[in-house]
Amino acid sequence: MHNIKQVVIAGGGSAGWMTAAALSKLLGEHVNITLVESAQIGTVSVGEATIPQIRQFNQLIGIDENEFLSATSGTFKLGIEFIDWGQIGQQYMHPFGPYGVNLNGIAFHHYWLKSVKNTNPAPILDYCLEGHAAKLNRFDRIVGQTTKGHSTLNYAFHFDAVKYAEFLSTLAIKQGVKHIQGTISQVTIEPSNGHIKDLILDDGQVISGELFIDCTGFKGRLINQALHVGFESWQHWLPCDSAIAIASESLPELKPYTQATAHKAGWQWQIPLQHRVGNGRVFASGFTSAEQQIAQLAAQLPSKAVTEPRQLNWQNGRRLKAWQKNCVAIGLSAGFLEPLESTGLQFIQSAILRLISLFPSCAMAKVDADTYNRYTEQEITAVRDFIICHYKVTKRSDSEFWRYCQHMDVPNTVSERLALFAQNGRLFRENNELFNELSWFSVLHGQGIEPQGYHPLVNSLSDAACEQYMQQIKTMIGQTARSLPMHSEYVARHCRYSKS
Ligand SMILES: Cc1cc2nc3c(=O)[nH]c(=O)nc-3n(C[C@H](O)[C@H](O)[C@H](O)COP(=O)(O)OP(=O)(O)OC[C@H]3O[C@@H](n4cnc5c(N)ncnc54)[C@H](O)[C@@H]3O)c2cc1C
Repeated sequence: MHNIKQVVIAGGGSAGWMTAAALSKLLGEHVNITLVESAQIGTVSVGEATIPQIRQFNQLIGIDENEFLSATSGTFKLGIEFIDWGQIGQQYMHPFGPYGVNLNGIAFHHYWLKSVKNTNPAPILDYCLEGHAAKLNRFDRIVGQTTKGHSTLNYAFHFDAVKYAEFLSTLAIKQGVKHIQGTISQVTIEPSNGHIKDLILDDGQVISGELFIDCTGFKGRLINQALHVGFESWQHWLPCDSAIAIASESLPELKPYTQATAHKAGWQWQIPLQHRVGNGRVFASGFTSAEQQIAQLAAQLPSKAVTEPRQLNWQNGRRLKAWQKNCVAIGLSAGFLEPLESTGLQFIQSAILRLISLFPSCAMAKVDADTYNRYTEQEITAVRDFIICHYKVTKRSDSEFWRYCQHMDVPNTVSERLALFAQNGRLFRENNELFNELSWFSVLHGQGIEPQGYHPLVNSLSDAACEQYMQQIKTMIGQTARSLPMHSEYVARHCRYSKS
């Protein structure tokens, strides 16, 4: 058994450069890494909103947060605001921080649900520091001191995806990654074992390797076109399969959250960056046309357009095996779920960490690949269920699209979860899935599901004690949120965009 010495990454979008930056940092000089990308083919470049786990990835590869934000025109993100999802006129936030403080092993939201039955408590967001601060447009990394050190907000980022890839490429090349420009025109397979042997570029260059990482985007130049690994489509549960993106001029006030506003055939994103606003109209092509969506997006931009409309199309679903033979697909080549919960870059980072844990020798043990594939499937399937819920749990019936979503069959895993929540507001996090109980509660409650009851053990606290407990939390959160600086000021002070 000998160690892998040659790793080839095909593709230089976010997936390719995140992989290159991480592997060159973690595998060090024992492994030669080559990245090949095609200027003719280009990248998707719309991964602009993230979830808090991205900070762990950035720390792992040694990125200085302020330097990275100022290079990528980044801003901070405390959650996602959903508008018009449950019903037209309704709004809610999926914040990144917890609601209140759990008591006697029972989640805070049960105390809040009890209080709803008895009195008229403040909206649930008033008990969440991240959510409350977001609505006030306020932000700070450090919000207090505890006996264990600083207490911080749980935050993520918005950033320019092209600049993020550039930032990572500089880092990766500095760490020894060899960068080649060229289009892969042929993939040579070793007949004895079906492994990929070489990539042949259109200028005749031959790139040999022992492990190939396919980061070539939706088409999967290696995993699909060369190794013929199939794809499982989830289009019937997630009908949104297209988007139009237009950037517009920056706004004076930077919101520390993404906005997702539902429309008659999908939803529209608004992502505040320092130098521009990212806008996009996600839609189900079976229910509307691209021309209509371009016109509607153009009419609803928050500021003057600075780019032409760009159309993107995809299929929601997953590659049946992300790891096949000596090829691991990472990024869009491994699967994609529409961008509602900003999970694209998260899938990339967790794939990289999974690959590091199961990093193979040249023998390519099947058990390593099987394990990798099992966890990859588990991760994306759980997120799929979460996203399906946003569409299924709606009272909107003002268009054919929403009537379809409301009445569609959903996987059993979704219906079981909805039934459990509807009874007593209970939620369980299965297999350490990406979105925890807080996220599920935010969406189900936010879209108008009112559980019949709440956890019965909450009744061991008297009504008066319950009120007092909730009032204390609300007061503390309100005071802390109001004491934070405005997000725009914070960004200008710590990580103002510097054009390189
Ligand atoms: C509409 C939309 C919105 C999104 N929003 C978000 C978001 O807010 N947050 C988030 O986390 N994610 C988001 N995503 C997902 C995110 O954009 C992707 O996960 C991310 O960009 C990774 O893409 P990639 O690198 O896999 O593929 P790509 O960006 O497509 O890169 C493919 C690379 O492969 C190269 N290549 C392809 N074929 C060849 C060939 N034959 N020879 C050589 N090179 C080749 C190309 O040159 C390119 O460098 C969004 C996706 C879409 C479609």
